[in-house]
Amino acid sequence: MATECSSGESWKQQPPYRHSKEDAAKFDKKHEASCHCGRVKYWLSRDAPLVAKYCHCRGCQVLHGAPFQWAAIFHKEDMMFENGTDNLVFYQSGEQTLGHDLPCKVSCAYCRSPIFDEGRRMALLFPTLIKFANKAERDAFYPQCHIFYSQRVVDIPDGKPKWDGIDGEGSLLMENVA
Ligand SMILES: [Zn+2]
Ligand SMILES: [Zn+2]
Repeated sequence: MATECSSGESWKQQPPYRHSKEDAAKFDKKHEASCHCGRVKYWLSRDAPLVAKYCHCRGCQVLHGAPFQWAAIFHKEDMMFENGTDNLVFYQSGEQTLGHDLPCKVSCAYCRSPIFDEGRRMALLFPTLIKFANKAERDAFYPQCHIFYSQRVVDIPDGKPKWDGIDGEGSLLMENVA
């Protein structure tokens, strides 16, 4: 029945949650990732992200309980969850509400591991969940830059560009300035 699925739920039938049978069959599983408890598992079909960053903003510090966030950006089509939306919860940090309202934050409903931030076309995922086979695989996810470095709680003197806000906007900060 075509009307069985309301249009409000149609996102559940889209990547990264559902792929067509043909797309799923030819999905090239380059990386596997899972949350802490293992109830949520997904695969990536690309070796490396479009771009990776460390975000030092206050919001990421609070939401991740960490000094900064490591984010890797992929097209949603390049990500595939093993069990669709099962065991996932959605949080809209802008409105501070629960529910799937893009852009939103996606976590495991059981162990609460942050899994990714979902945009309209992009998935901003957290590579700490990926089971890298070796250092070379992990190095492909090393960030090209730091963003919101002005809000940092730790210095990372790695020679990468450091933006005071979003990359490409605002100004670049020099390393080791107080
Ligand atoms: Zn979990
Ligand atoms: Zn941030």
